[in-house]
Amino acid sequence: MSFDAEAKMQLLFALRSKGVTDKTVLSVMERIDRGDFIQGYFTERAYEDMPLPIACGQTISQPSVVGLMTQALQVTPRDKVLEVGTGSGYQAAILSQLARRVYTVDRHARLVRAAREVFDSMGLTNITAFTADGSHGLPDQAPFDRILVTAAAEDPPGPLLAQLKIGGIMVVPVGQSDTVQSLIRVTRHADGFEYDELRPVRFVPLVEGLGKE
Ligand code: SAH
Repeated sequence: MSFDAEAKMQLLFALRSKGVTDKTVLSVMERIDRGDFIQGYFTERAYEDMPLPIACGQTISQPSVVGLMTQALQVTPRDKVLEVGTGSGYQAAILSQLARRVYTVDRHARLVRAAREVFDSMGLTNITAFTADGSHGLPDQAPFDRILVTAAAEDPPGPLLAQLKIGGIMVVPVGQSDTVQSLIRVTRHADGFEYDELRPVRFVPLVEGLGKE
C-alpha cells in the first residue's frame, strides 16, 4: 500500500475512534482529499488528525472536528447551507457533497481566491465563495437551512440566527476566549431557539471587517 493510501486509512480510523460515525459523512471524507487544500511544507501532514496552518495566519481545522461538526449539522440533499470561514475550502467541499448548494464566506480575499481554484479544479459547481464579513451572514441569499460557523464568536451572531429557516440548524463554536470554547448546536423552532452544547473545541476567532489580503 502506498504511503498516502495507508495515511488515508489511518485518518478514517482516527475519525471513527473520535466519534464520527455517520456513514455518509465518513464516505464523503474518504472522497474529498484534504491534501488538495494544503499547500507547501505541510502537505505531507494532510492526513494527520491535526489542525494545520494555511495562508493569512489561519488554520485548516482538525479532520475529526470537521467530521463532528458536519455530523452535528445533519445536512440533507435539499439544503441550502452557509459556511462562515472558508479558510482552505476543505469544510465547504465536504458540505457540497451533502447539500444542494453551499455559500461560503471568508474575510480574507486571498483565501477565497485559493479556495475557488480548488473547487474549480475538483468540479465542485454547487459552491459559491464570497469575500465578506460573515458575521452579518449573506442577506441576499438568506434564509438558510443550515449554517456552519468555523470561527469562534462570543455568542451566536444575531444576523446569523435571523437568517436561519424555521426548522434550520446552526453549528457554531462559542466562547469568551481563544482557549475555552464550546461547540453549540442551535435549532430554530417556530417559537424560538433551542441550544445544545456539544463539546469543547478551539477555533481561531471570528473577527469583524475584511482582512488586508
Ligand atoms: N473552514 C475552514 C477553516 C476555517 S479557519 C477550512 O475548512 O479550512 C477560520 C476562518 O474564518 C479563517 O479563514 C478566517 O479568515 C475566517 N473568519 C474569521 N472571521 C471572519 C468573519 N467575520 N467573516 C468571514 N470569515 C471570517
